[in-house]
Amino acid sequence: MKLIIVGAGVVGAACAYEASGFGAEVVLVDADLPGRATAAGAGIVCPWVSHADDEAWYAFACAAARRYPALVDELADCGAGDVSYRRVGALIIPRDEEEAGRECERMTDRLATVPEIGEVQVVAPGDVLNLFPPLRPGSVGVWIGGAGRVDGRRLRDSLVGAARGRGAALMAGRARLACRAGRVAGVEIDGQLMETDVVVAATGAWTTSFVQPAAVVVRVTPERGQIVHLRFGSADTTRWPVILPASSGHYLLAFEGSRVVAGATREPGSGFDARITAGGLGEVLAQAVAVAPGLSGATYLETRVGLRPAGPDVRPLLGPVSGVAGLVVATGLGASGLTLGPLAGAVAARTALGVDQPIDLTPFDPLR
Ligand SMILES: Cc1cc2nc3c(=O)[nH]c(=O)nc-3n(C[C@H](O)[C@H](O)[C@H](O)COP(=O)(O)OP(=O)(O)OC[C@H]3O[C@@H](n4cnc5c(N)ncnc54)[C@H](O)[C@@H]3O)c2cc1C
Repeated sequence: MKLIIVGAGVVGAACAYEASGFGAEVVLVDADLPGRATAAGAGIVCPWVSHADDEAWYAFACAAARRYPALVDELADCGAGDVSYRRVGALIIPRDEEEAGRECERMTDRLATVPEIGEVQVVAPGDVLNLFPPLRPGSVGVWIGGAGRVDGRRLRDSLVGAARGRGAALMAGRARLACRAGRVAGVEIDGQLMETDVVVAATGAWTTSFVQPAAVVVRVTPERGQIVHLRFGSADTTRWPVILPASSGHYLLAFEGSRVVAGATREPGSGFDARITAGGLGEVLAQAVAVAPGLSGATYLETRVGLRPAGPDVRPLLGPVSGVAGLVVATGLGASGLTLGPLAGAVAARTALGVDQPIDLTPFDPLR
């Protein structure tokens, strides 16, 4: 079976990897658009601290996080090298000890049904500083041992590399969906029709316009995120945990090479404007230094900008499109796409190929 996947972010790359594993003839197309979210994403894999109130989202997110270590091992077996996923743990930084107690209790309750959350405990200020030295002295923390982080670019490249190793083809270009009599006919690239019966739209923030030729509305809007990379002297940052201040939606994390990442703006209404703005940069740096004053002297490296694909609610837009035979949508992962993306891509591949998959897609209907 021939499958064309449009969009080679984390979702499309994961879809190509899974589909090529089933022996499908896979073509993965990408236009390298400015604002590709996967190339900017921070890479925190710790879904247990948010949206637990949405049962369908939470179950999907927990399954996605649980699957990460096995996927990373699989990619290593395919020769993809180190995809940079590490279970480094996370520290929630509460405003005071009372809040620390509440956060610890909240996470311990969730641990009862989700063992991957790992160890949960309150960490005293001295130990917090040992774990993440630039933090404000005196900060107390709540430790979540199962949290991880991953470099979205490396993960995506590894998935594409492994898919190609299984025979998938990668094509550059902007694809236009072609439909005939209520079913998919293929995609056009530079005016040339590439025929197929099944197309997966893994087109991120651009999905609404991509599926328009099928006369359906998939409600995705771009939400800009600006995120800053710093170098903290020559510190060994390899195992520094993710920092999640309870007072804001901003965060810090670290990668090899003394790289500290401070994120991020959440800018609904940004449209497809992928610029770095003075206000965005100012906000991210101010929030970072407020939590971790030790970062004031860090070296500025770069700012990345991504357009998160935001759906009408927190849930993925994932599954077949009713009324359009051969069209599968996989997007709407918003601020959690590096966590949910590998599973969403795999589910999309199985759906497109008609292979069994255990997840009930009803809550994720792309036309809701
Ligand atoms: C600043 C920031 C921080 C984030 N932090 C985290 C985090 O810590 N943890 C987490 O889990 N998630 C995080 N995310 C969210 C995550 O990055 C995204 O949800 C995820 O990368 C979306 O992946 P995607 O494949 O759906 O979209 P994208 O990565 O945007 O990929 C879509 C692709 O489709 C291509 N495309 C679109 N239309 C066409 C067309 N017509 N023809 C050809 N190609 C096309 C584009 O070029 C693009 O490459 C963050 C995002 C941002 C911006």
